[in-house]
Order: sequence, then structure tokens, then C-alpha cells
Amino acid sequence: MNFNKIKEAEGLHYMPVFSRESIAIDHGDGNCLYDIHGNKYVDFVAGIASNVLGYNHPEFTAAVCEQVHKLIHVSNHYYTEIQSEYIAALCKASGFSRVFLANSGAEANECAIKLVRRYFRNRGIEKTVLCAERAFHGRTLATLTATGYESQRRIYSPVPSGFSHFEYNDFDDFKSKLTDDVGAVMLETIQGECGVRPFSNDFLVNAYALCKSKGVLFVIDEIQTGMGRTGKLFSFEHFGIQPDIITLAKGIAGGIPMGACLATEEVGTAFTVGDHGSTFGGNPLACAAANKVLEILTGGLLESSAETGEYFGEQLAHFSKYNFIADIRGKGLMRGIQLSDKLSAASFEGRLRERGYLVNVTGNNTIRLVPPLTITREEIDGFISALDEICAATNI
Ligand SMILES: *Cc1c(COP(=O)(O)O)cnc(C)c1O
Repeated sequence: MNFNKIKEAEGLHYMPVFSRESIAIDHGDGNCLYDIHGNKYVDFVAGIASNVLGYNHPEFTAAVCEQVHKLIHVSNHYYTEIQSEYIAALCKASGFSRVFLANSGAEANECAIKLVRRYFRNRGIEKTVLCAERAFHGRTLATLTATGYESQRRIYSPVPSGFSHFEYNDFDDFKSKLTDDVGAVMLETIQGECGVRPFSNDFLVNAYALCKSKGVLFVIDEIQTGMGRTGKLFSFEHFGIQPDIITLAKGIAGGIPMGACLATEEVGTAFTVGDHGSTFGGNPLACAAANKVLEILTGGLLESSAETGEYFGEQLAHFSKYNFIADIRGKGLMRGIQLSDKLSAASFEGRLRERGYLVNVTGNNTIRLVPPLTITREEIDGFISALDEICAATNI
């Protein structure tokens, strides 16, 4: 099928919610994608921080194929060895003791929100959740209400009640919004969708301490920052804090849909039988994929990708010499380059694609860089020189 045919079907039949690039992907190998014309691209998008092992990773592909032959799906009414093996490994690696497995990030957060409400309901009280402005927590009604965009809440009103918002990185505002009806605070340590914006170390440490002193649960959405993305298995480990709940998705199963909500023993046992559930969540195929991702990460990839992430940060720092680069942010293999408002990040994306590199533009005129954790220094060097060529030819 030629490109226009592919594009035509989407235009006619897909609900018009996506703005897509003019490129149709055929297959992937290593850290590269190939379009239907055979053009090769080094991938700094990775299915949005999801394909942590790149494409056609031999060990991962073998584990997934083996599970496809054995058993793809079975109801959660039954036990399976692979789910049992995986949840034990995930708890061991994370230090949490309770897990619920879902199919996506939004569902993992939905589970976290329900768990918070159930936890307080068990104590005979109703509590709300405090979130950050411009946070992104998903697209279900509850998670889009948690998400810090008034415009989204307006389109879909009436939205669920029980959410409030504080200004990003503003501790005074946070303190004033942490009223007695708030039962939990939910945030990302680095806000991905609105331009790779990290909370400061001070903010996180102080917000956490205040929550602990008031008996407020601390929930970290690690859907984008988790699974080694920032150089640690989970980004909260950078701050010496211990959240009550974290949520995972994106990279958790290397591109097979999966989400997870992890909690401490006390919080994670607030649910009782029938309180929550899922048909597909944690099915054998997803668990086999996630189990292999975790095994590869803890078996050395976490350390090596943390080093690659440091190297990436050092190389990107050189771009501050260009006066139209407004800011360079992020940690590990989650980086953002914000351009001056006089330039469009989208045009940089196009020029990088012409040179064989895929990147993605987020809020704040920012180029987001979230490659597979298997990305090599050589591939980074290639990207850096392509970007430097483009920057050198740009004058404003
Ligand atoms: C992507 C993302 C979500 C939503 O995940 P889906 O799988 O698209 O539902 C939630 N929170 C954060 C931080 C994300 O990056």
C-alpha cells in the first residue's frame, strides 16, 4: 500500500484525534525504525518512552514468542505461573509489596485514585487528590480531571469531583492547597507531556515531608519516568523519598500494553475482593514481556543506560551556546530541549527526520528525547551532529 492510501484510510475512518507525521512505519530493528519506503531512522521517540529495548531485541522477542505459543490470555479467575513470577520480581525490585496490573497508564492511575479513595473510605472519611498544574495523568474521565489542563476538564464536563491543583514547583501554593480534605498528592517527578519539566529536589523533599507529617498519601506517577528512564529504576529514588503508591506503564513491558499500580502493604490491602479488576490486566503475554524487561534491566541495562544517559546530558549541554535554545532539561534518557518562541520545535522535528532521526515535540515548544534504553553512544553522537548542523544553519 502506498503512503497516500494509508493516509486516506486514517482520514476517512479513524476518529480525528491524532495529528500524525507524514510517515508510515513498516518495521523496527535495534534502535531504528524503517518506513514503508525503506528509509531508516534512529528512534529518539521509542513509542513515547515505551520501547525500552528498542526493536526485535533477540531475548525479548524470544520470550514473547514463546509465551504466544504457550498461552496469550486467560482470565484472572485463574492463577498463572508467569504472573506469579513477575509480581514477585517486581515487588522485589521496587520494594513495594502489593501490585495491581492493568493495560495502560491511565488505568494504572485510575487504580491509584480508587485505592486512595478506598483507603480513606475504610476509615470512614472521604478525601480528595491534589495534583500539579500541567501534569499529565491520562485520558479517562478521572485521570483527565487529575491532569492539570483546565481546557480538557471543560470539554468533558461534568467531570468527577475530588481533584484540586497546585502551581508546578511552587511550595507556598502547594502548602496552601494541601487542605484537610486532601488525602493524597499525585505528581510526576518530571512532567513529560508539557515539556520535560522536572520538579526541584527541594520541592519534592519538602512536599513529601509535609505530606508525611499530615498523613497524606504520596503518589508518584512513574509512567514515563519509571523503568530506568531517568537512570534509576524509578525516578523517586533520586530524592530519598518513599512514596505510598507509584504507577507504571509505557516501558514496563517493552511495548506490549501494560500498566501497574504498586503500593505499600498498608495501602495496597485497602481493596477487598470485588473492589477492582480487569479482563486483560496482567495477562500471561504482558507478564512474560514485562518479566523479561525487568530481568534485562536489573541484569545490567539499568547501569549501562544510566551511563549513556549521563553522556547524552553532557553532549546536549553544549547546545546552550545557541541563543535560541531556551532551556535543556531532564535526567538520564529523558531529555527536553526547549526552543525560543521565535522558532518552532516542529520544524526542527522535520529537519531531524530528513537527516534520519525521529524526535517528538511536547508542550512548551520542547523537543522531547526518550530513546530506547539500549541506544548507543554512536547513535547519540550521530544525533548530536545532525542537531548541531541544523542549529548552525539556524539564525534568528
Ligand atoms: C503516558 C502517560 C500516562 C497515560 O498513559 P496511557 O498508557 O496513555 O494511558 C499517564 N501519566 C504519564 C506521566 C504519562 O506519561
